[in-house]
Amino acid sequence: ACVEFSRVCVSRSVMVLVNPQSGRGQAMSLYTGPVLSMLTEANISHTLITTEHRNHARELVRNADLSQWSAIVILSGDGLLFEVINGLMEREDWDEAIRIPLGILPGGSGNALAASVHHYTQAGPALGEDLLLSCCFLLCKGLVCPLDIVSVRLSSGPRLFSFLSLAWGFVADVDIESEKFRHVGAMRFLVGTLLRLASLRTYQGRLAFLPARENSTSSSVSFLRPHTSFCDSVQRVSHMQQETSNRHECEGQNTHNNSNDKDFQLKNDSKDNRLPDNLLSPIEDPVPTNWTIEKEQEFVLVLATCHSHLAEELVVSPDARPDDGHLHLLYVTAGISRPALLRLFLAMEKGTHLSCECPHLIYRRVQALRLEPITKPGVITVDGEQVEYGPIQAQVHKGYARIICG
Ligand code: ADP
Ligand code: MG
Repeated sequence: ACVEFSRVCVSRSVMVLVNPQSGRGQAMSLYTGPVLSMLTEANISHTLITTEHRNHARELVRNADLSQWSAIVILSGDGLLFEVINGLMEREDWDEAIRIPLGILPGGSGNALAASVHHYTQAGPALGEDLLLSCCFLLCKGLVCPLDIVSVRLSSGPRLFSFLSLAWGFVADVDIESEKFRHVGAMRFLVGTLLRLASLRTYQGRLAFLPARENSTSSSVSFLRPHTSFCDSVQRVSHMQQETSNRHECEGQNTHNNSNDKDFQLKNDSKDNRLPDNLLSPIEDPVPTNWTIEKEQEFVLVLATCHSHLAEELVVSPDARPDDGHLHLLYVTAGISRPALLRLFLAMEKGTHLSCECPHLIYRRVQALRLEPITKPGVITVDGEQVEYGPIQAQVHKGYARIICG
């Protein structure tokens, strides 16, 4: 069912965005080396665009004529894809724009999505250049599958869209504090983790979430189903139509589960009517009655991810799938010892932390969550980027975007 890329991709080109500053500053040499030779060999016509400053990619895709492009590929870390997704969602035609196939090639220091996409192929772990070659091979195959998008709302400021993670406490602190070790590449997270462990602290706050539905369709069916090639426009249109009807079905089910949803939707919509967050109540109101509310307590970390990996060697949620419709919520409560926390992080290298039986580690699959930090000041990150510190809530929109994966 998959049409070969080289045969159909004649008129439109792939936009390859490279952030020359990402990681250790080596992304351009990765492009001129293995990436260019693989794309040339696979006969993939593409246009290289190097970003010149932060938010350049965001502005570019916000204003681009997308009919010229068959896909947008990012050769950088996760931060550049975050810009692209938010740029697409800021467009007038966001609903159409967000369906352009997105590709990821690891060129940064935080390559969580690239590592996850490789993990979903069920191949053994790959790091560094091996990971790049694997992702480049998947790109040349050009198969596309749905990708969950998370709508994130802060108490003030604009709405954000996330594809990867929301973090508070230990993980967020490490992410931001380790920026200064950028020159050591992915090792920066290890250095940051050891430093943070030495000055371990806790964070007071409230957490509430809407558990995932037991019978919610697991990704395995749609994910393992043969995908569409991102150059086959005919397949692409039918895939979109199918997905649009799936979306409506899915939203219908959510509404059905939540008798008060209509009210919430109306309130949220008055500010921003693109992609209504039907599961969220306004952030200044209590959470809906069908949510689970944890008692106010001290946390060491709160982390919600959409994907298996949080970094090349950090498998936080091994069973996650790109369109499972779940946020994988992990949190660690206060009282955990330094050695126990270190053991958890070491187990995360292989993704075995959930079988450590650590009483301080809790894992839940959720559809939506709200976090209200009480400890001040502090750091919250969305997809590794620091956002305004304060109450934050989020809801998954199942399979709303597309990712090129195996
Ligand atoms: P890394 O994984 O190394 O952090 P990212 O892709 O996440 O790599 O990029 C890091 C940050 O750099 C992102 O916040 C992105 O917005 C920003 N950025 C993108 N292009 C440039 C540029 N040309 N110069 C400086 N910063 C940039
Ligand atoms: Mg980054």
